Amino acid sequence: MPAPYVTHELDGKVPSALVTGASRGIGRAVAKALARDGYQILFTYVSRPEEARITADDIAQGGGRAAAFALNVGDCAAVAEFFAGEIKDKVNLAVLVNNAGIARDGFLIRMKDEDFDSVMAVNVRGAFCCTREAAKIMGKNRTGRIINVSSVVGQTGNAGQANYAASKAALLGLTKAAAKELAARQITVNAVAPGFIETDMTAGLSGEVRAAYEAAIPLKRMGTAQEVAEAVAFLASGRAAYITGQVLAVNGGMYC
Ligand code: NAP
Repeated sequence: MPAPYVTHELDGKVPSALVTGASRGIGRAVAKALARDGYQILFTYVSRPEEARITADDIAQGGGRAAAFALNVGDCAAVAEFFAGEIKDKVNLAVLVNNAGIARDGFLIRMKDEDFDSVMAVNVRGAFCCTREAAKIMGKNRTGRIINVSSVVGQTGNAGQANYAASKAALLGLTKAAAKELAARQITVNAVAPGFIETDMTAGLSGEVRAAYEAAIPLKRMGTAQEVAEAVAFLASGRAAYITGQVLAVNGGMYC
């Protein structure tokens, strides 16, 4: 793993949040919102160090501390090595946000095996591996918050997204199972289910498709990464201490 980009040396005592996939989009907004709320931020990216630096520098400019790590969350051995080397006995891990995700859209009958497998590897196995490693540490501390970034399409399905919808539905199952299992250790596990949010992931939609989506959204607009981040920040906060195993929709009324 390349050396992390660190804005300030991390303090082992300060409550910390690990956000996967925070070099862009929703993850960046989540990392900044949690830094605003007082957490020291560790975050991962996979291929865009220049974007990761922007997130880290933004956090530092706001008075926070951040460290960016290149880590493919779909590689469980790399995830275990990362937790052992960078988190265990070094950081006071209070929050994990499993945000990293990819889409490889296409119609079912033409979808390639690798498009199914790569989406499941990042979106589901990545969240599972990070949750498993975080739970070992949080379990010893007898406190913790885990938040999974699912999607409205995991609740409703969507034509052209069989792999992605399956992965996001799987995250909801993971959320509920982990919530039941980890409650005894005072770890809460919840999910947010964003609707259509303005990020790179949706930037490729044609004007026609975008207009059709917007017409179908009761609030008649796409959401912002900041609006998802505020829901995650709530679930990470003390205000959500008695909420676990839940799915908080941030979708402008698309599915309710
Ligand atoms: P995005 O703008 O495409 O950003 C994806 C982020 O994930 C980037 O930071 C990327 O890192 C990182 N990433 C990708 N593959 C990774 C891997 N294998 N290991 C670690 N990090 C990886 O996506 P977004 O729209 O912000 O979406 C964030 C999450 O919200 C995803 O789980 C997505 O499914 C979910 N979501 C999005 C929407 C939406 O409308 N945008 C709606 C519902 C749910 P690099 O920058 O290095 O590539």
